[in-house]
Amino acid sequence: DATANMLEVEDLTVAYGAVRALSGVSLSVPRGSVTAVLGANGAGKTTFLRTLSGLLRPRSGRVVLDGRDIARTPVEDIVRAGLAHVPEGRGVIVELTVEENLRLGGLIRRTAARSADDGPRWSLENVYELFPPLRERARRQATTLSGGERQMLAIGRALMSNPRLLLLDEPSLGLAPRLVAQIMAVLRRMRDERGLTVLLVEQNARSALSIADRAIVLNLGTIAIDKDARLLAGDDQLRHAYLGF
Ligand code: ATP
Repeated sequence: DATANMLEVEDLTVAYGAVRALSGVSLSVPRGSVTAVLGANGAGKTTFLRTLSGLLRPRSGRVVLDGRDIARTPVEDIVRAGLAHVPEGRGVIVELTVEENLRLGGLIRRTAARSADDGPRWSLENVYELFPPLRERARRQATTLSGGERQMLAIGRALMSNPRLLLLDEPSLGLAPRLVAQIMAVLRRMRDERGLTVLLVEQNARSALSIADRAIVLNLGTIAIDKDARLLAGDDQLRHAYLGF
């Protein structure tokens, strides 16, 4: 069944000129799951997300979102197909207000779902319920937000496109532990309550594994480990060797 998984990646190879960043990466992501994408600096994690969202094009391989190959689909149409990407560094437009950033996120929205379960839809009100500090700061310029609030805004903006698959690139970067825990709790809720499928790139492996169903570890552009997140977290040898904790 082509639509059993939200995402199927098959034998993906991506290069920057002569530098190969990903080689033969294959991955299946079940609907309504959180997959942690771990690995050292330079392992290829950001390249992987950018290829899934169409910002980079693969040399070869397939990216199948909800049964449809999107490896050569224009970025806007990938958003319309239900994929949203929260980039590293967050990509918020600081000159605009919080609400303007959110409305911008809703300019291109998912059209129809291809499969029967239609997936979550989001309004401004839903985003403010999820992240109350954003409601209080709705009319303020994003430049006045703290790091944690900016991350909330970046996630909220991505949700406004009504994704079924949300990609996050290091959402915990630079945040205090309490805020990291809050962001992880929100991701868990979105999976549990709204059936969202999440791909979570993290340097903070411990936090990511605490909410993930599954984890992959990239090493020099290939998948070194693809495993149940709890089993990986409980495997002292693998954890020490690949995750450093
Ligand atoms: P980080 O956590 O540091 O962001 P990463 O796991 O996300 O690392 P990538 O940024 O995807 O890794 O990089 C994978 C490989 O591709 C690295 O060897 C990197 O040097 C190389 N690379 C990344 N971007 C470019 C680019 N624009 N041009 C050339 N090589 C690049």
